[in-house]
Amino acid sequence: MHDLVERLYPLCRSITGDGVRQTLAVVGESLDLDVHEVPTGTQVLDWTVPQEWNIRDAYVADAAGNRLIDFRKLNLHVVGYSVPVHEWMSFDDLRPHLHTIPEQPSLVPYRTSYYSPAWGFCLSENDLLALPSGPYEVMIDSTLADGHLTYAEHVVPGQVSDEVIITCHTCHPSLANDNLAGIAVAVELAQRLKNPWYTYRFVFAPGTIGAITWLARNFDTIERVKHGVVLACAGDEGALTYKKSRRGDAEIDRVVRYVLETSGRDHTIVDFSPYGYDERQYCSPGFNLGVGSLTRTPYAGYPEYHTSGDNPDFVSPGAMTDTLETLWEVVGVLDRNRTYVNQSPYGEPQLGRRGLYDSLGGRSDTKQAQLAMLWVLNLSDGEHSLLDIAGKSGLPFSAVADAARALHDAGLVKE
Ligand code: ZN
Repeated sequence: MHDLVERLYPLCRSITGDGVRQTLAVVGESLDLDVHEVPTGTQVLDWTVPQEWNIRDAYVADAAGNRLIDFRKLNLHVVGYSVPVHEWMSFDDLRPHLHTIPEQPSLVPYRTSYYSPAWGFCLSENDLLALPSGPYEVMIDSTLADGHLTYAEHVVPGQVSDEVIITCHTCHPSLANDNLAGIAVAVELAQRLKNPWYTYRFVFAPGTIGAITWLARNFDTIERVKHGVVLACAGDEGALTYKKSRRGDAEIDRVVRYVLETSGRDHTIVDFSPYGYDERQYCSPGFNLGVGSLTRTPYAGYPEYHTSGDNPDFVSPGAMTDTLETLWEVVGVLDRNRTYVNQSPYGEPQLGRRGLYDSLGGRSDTKQAQLAMLWVLNLSDGEHSLLDIAGKSGLPFSAVADAARALHDAGLVKE
């Protein structure tokens, strides 16, 4: 995962353009991707797909041609979606186009201007103070033209057509935690899934406009999306944070809470708010999907956020692995969670006669397995899911799910 972060890091992604395509091409080496190209001008919900932005080079140079600010060294140096410019100018003329973070003088900020035509450069406050006097050659070799918005999907077919969506944004240039770590974890999770219960759809799309485009193009079939997770900031050393869906008690909310609470991991669970990543779109009131957001340190919650400090050194293999394993446990519970009805509810059914004791004989966890059967039989009234039963009984979800499977195979419970 960390290798993938390092490989994707130099690419100049934005909400459109070749940096996104190159990113998806790399992801496509690991996963079969359906890449979608949506033309500029396409109406998507209340938005319109913008012109496509591509950039080849950009710099501010002195009279001798020395590059003082150089896009080729770090793509954060150019404001995303900058219109082309090539002029000589004085410091006073250039200054309004320069962006720094005075409180973090060694870091280069990340800035964009997607929806109003502008250009600019980002640099550290220290470098700004050290700039020699002008005049400067200012050059941005970019193109804003009709083209496409690019996003991709990878589908792992399940035993049912009901879907779980796992989404991550692909629109940030050289920022590691804030988009690349999520992409890397999603790729790894997708590769692990083999013949799951639900159909898993991984969506790699630019933030906001990409999610809105995806929703617009899936409007008529959105009912098949039963659960989802927006994955972001997946690789910093902070503890996990789960932001609940707008519904607040969607099955995904209960499953993630269960996994986090029973795993012993440090974590925080927060209520939905219409601020953050693409849960804003999936949980807009018209859709109101059961989609939560899993991050480590959340949106804007760390000093390196949206700066050159969010580089591959800021994300760790261990943190990404922890995020991956957490999601893997979530998938394990979500995929096996069912609600059953006891078919023999008058008194306890005789388990021995059906071989349900014998089949467990000799196992060290026999007692737990028998207890789990009694709990499943008693609470399977159509009102309690296996997750509810695990919560009430205090037994591990896997023991409850195994018991339910045995009872189901014996005809004692029905889904
Ligand atoms: Zn961001």
